[in-house]
Amino acid sequence: MADIVYTYHNSVYFNITNKCPCRCVFCIRDKVDAIGEAENLFHETEPTLDNIISAVDAYDFSGKDTAVFCGYGEPTNAYENLIATAEYLRKKYPSLKLRLNTNGLSDLINGRETAKEICKAFDSVSISLNDITSEGYDKITRNIYPGKAYEAMLKFAKDCVNEGAQTRLSVVDVIGEEKIKKAKEIAESIGADFLCRKYDS
Ligand code: SF4
Repeated sequence: MADIVYTYHNSVYFNITNKCPCRCVFCIRDKVDAIGEAENLFHETEPTLDNIISAVDAYDFSGKDTAVFCGYGEPTNAYENLIATAEYLRKKYPSLKLRLNTNGLSDLINGRETAKEICKAFDSVSISLNDITSEGYDKITRNIYPGKAYEAMLKFAKDCVNEGAQTRLSVVDVIGEEKIKKAKEIAESIGADFLCRKYDS
């Protein structure tokens, strides 16, 4: 079975699904099969909650202060398992900080508002803003909800801010100085933190 829990930059990372409604032009999944100490992040079959809990129980969390849920896939595509795993971690390791890295499309994926439940389960949420317009966003993410994904992602981000989670919007530096500046303003306007990540080719 592929790695469900692995170490990356001295943090614990969770890979609970390979499903994703996007096909981002810079997605790392198109370049390598694994990152950090993982060997393979492509699941043959989607992990069940039992698989995930077993992986948590088998992992040595000593010295780890943060657990991050992110790719190789969009974590909110495995919504029930995501929330249940966060709750399990919260009980087992109360001091562990829980962060969700997401494309912010959970409400579209799950057909309902999800920020409240997510922010109850997680301490922080990092959302890929990617661009400053809906058109630009669709071009970069090649998502399955063209024309409505960008607005849904921004609404989700605002909801997370309102729910009190530490919320961050991120872009990759390839979009250029001008868009980075505007993206920072968008983040600030909704009360979110901002991160410009360096493109890692
Ligand atoms: S949202 Fe994340 S996992 Fe999905 S295609 Fe984009 S970069 Fe890859």
